[in-house]
Amino acid sequence: MLILGFVLLLLAALFFWLSARQRKQAGLPGGRVIYTDTRAWGPLEKPLYDAGLGLTGKPDYLVEQDGRILPVEVKTGRTPPAPYDAHIYQVAAYCLLVEKTYGRRPPYGIIHYPARDFAVDYTPELESALLDLLAEMRRDERRASVGRSHADPARCQGCGFRSVCDQKLG
Ligand code: SF4
Repeated sequence: MLILGFVLLLLAALFFWLSARQRKQAGLPGGRVIYTDTRAWGPLEKPLYDAGLGLTGKPDYLVEQDGRILPVEVKTGRTPPAPYDAHIYQVAAYCLLVEKTYGRRPPYGIIHYPARDFAVDYTPELESALLDLLAEMRRDERRASVGRSHADPARCQGCGFRSVCDQKLG
């Protein structure tokens, strides 16, 4: 369980590191503001897992709607005008895991911020950008050292790897 938690944390951090770079190449969708009925949201008991990709993740909720299964990620804090890139990739990963697990491709995933919900279309382009990102992460995992990809002390302040990172700022 500890290892699984570490893997999830590592994935979240790597998504965060790499997303800005990847977005430029991929032209990520910005997300559409939508209304969702939270009463239809069902919590997930176990993480979703795909052995082929070595990918695991646990959306906060799954919504079953007209035969579709949509992952929902709940974020706290400030509501941005558009979803953050890292959050888009996270929801894309959940869409991929939902498709692998249930054999039904979600047309979109939902990011729930305190003041607004966004639908992130799970397009073939987004899927392809996600797979590129995962491949890049795997390459980085094999390297002895991966350079810091930002110059933002605030990001390091809230990072779960701060205590062991030799590149932290601030
Ligand atoms: S402490 Fe900063 S540089 Fe180190 S992993 Fe976290 S965000 Fe990256």
